[in-house]
Amino acid sequence: MRIGIPKETFPGERRVATTPEVAEKIMKLGFEVAVESGAGDAANFSDDAFREASVAVVENAADLWAGSDIVLKVRAPSLAEVELMKEGGCLISFIWPAQNPELMDRLAATGGTVLAMDSVPRISRAQKLDALSSMANIAGYRAVIEAAHHFGRFFCGQVTAAGKVPPAKVFVIGAGVAGLAAIGAASGLGAIVRATDTRPEVKDQVKSMGAEFVEVDYQEEGTGVGGYAKVMSEGYQKAQAEMIARQAMDVDVIITTALIPGKPAPKLITAGMVKSMKPGSVIVDMAAEQGGNCELTVPGEVVVRHDVTIIGYTDLPSRLARQSSTLYATNLLHLLEELCPQKDGTIVVDMEDEVIRGTTVIKDGTITWPPPPPKIS
Ligand code: NAD
Repeated sequence: MRIGIPKETFPGERRVATTPEVAEKIMKLGFEVAVESGAGDAANFSDDAFREASVAVVENAADLWAGSDIVLKVRAPSLAEVELMKEGGCLISFIWPAQNPELMDRLAATGGTVLAMDSVPRISRAQKLDALSSMANIAGYRAVIEAAHHFGRFFCGQVTAAGKVPPAKVFVIGAGVAGLAAIGAASGLGAIVRATDTRPEVKDQVKSMGAEFVEVDYQEEGTGVGGYAKVMSEGYQKAQAEMIARQAMDVDVIITTALIPGKPAPKLITAGMVKSMKPGSVIVDMAAEQGGNCELTVPGEVVVRHDVTIIGYTDLPSRLARQSSTLYATNLLHLLEELCPQKDGTIVVDMEDEVIRGTTVIKDGTITWPPPPPKIS
């Protein structure tokens, strides 16, 4: 079978779904691999680098899609791209089926099979395919780099001949994959890091990363369905708001990542809290795409309000395109290894396999989403 990788068409997207090095490994599974010319340019993988890895370079998107039995993508395809898909073909990509019902119907009409990287069950066996985690890890790191870039001081404390510099204080709200990566990056730069989360089980992980865990003075279990966060009671929200208000006055940087699956992002940082922060402070709102954790966030933009810089970028992994392409391509390679156990260049979509069943959102033209509930391990 031939695997094709088109150039991403979403405005500003710099990632690509494979790299020359990973393509060579895909070929060892028995597949042919082709990329659209320029597909890797924005991630610093040139057409020549792909050619050197024996990958075919196809001049335009229409020929690439028409000649591919399996298409690998990063962003969900546009409806125009679905028109290019081979009848009965296979697509592996981020899809977000709940948010994209029309796309799902159009994809099903091709009679093909679609595996959604956002639907990989979050169980131990599937960790190597977990693109949500690999991208969240990069986003958390990049959030700290963006904060450091906009912050007018060092993150680390220093004693110099020109004076003593205190370390920056960083507060991370939501210590999932992205939050823990942000804690690691901020600690690495020498900041004093604190973090909070509604799920009590992350407390030890926060401490093990060298950060202080900040408790909310209210007794409530924050773990909901599938191990994810739930919407908290009014009493908890009030107590949490008081805690965040105290932190806002004290810290220099807030990185906020709080999300609840299927719900808008909880509003945790009010305009008043922003106003209470020190001049020159920075907020990175990693929940911007889902509406933001801060009332003043503008998704996709950097704004300054009350002398505080609020970063609402929604493309943090794409801002580290070479790294994120490499990790995403490796997640896809691991999925192909599961789909092609015989290494004979063909795929078997085994709906009895928990991981493949969960990931497959359309099978031979039939919508199979939602998958069975994930078992978090
Ligand atoms: P996420 O991106 O959905 O949410 C980010 C964090 O925000 C979470 O830690 C959440 O608890 C927290 N949060 C939500 N509302 C909040 C609030 N009001 N205040 C403070 N914090 C709040 O999270 P994620 O990184 O995708 O991970 C979520 C779950 O998935 C966890 O249970 C994690 O262990 C699990 N997971 C499992 C695997 C695996 O393969 N086993 C891999 C990754 C994640």
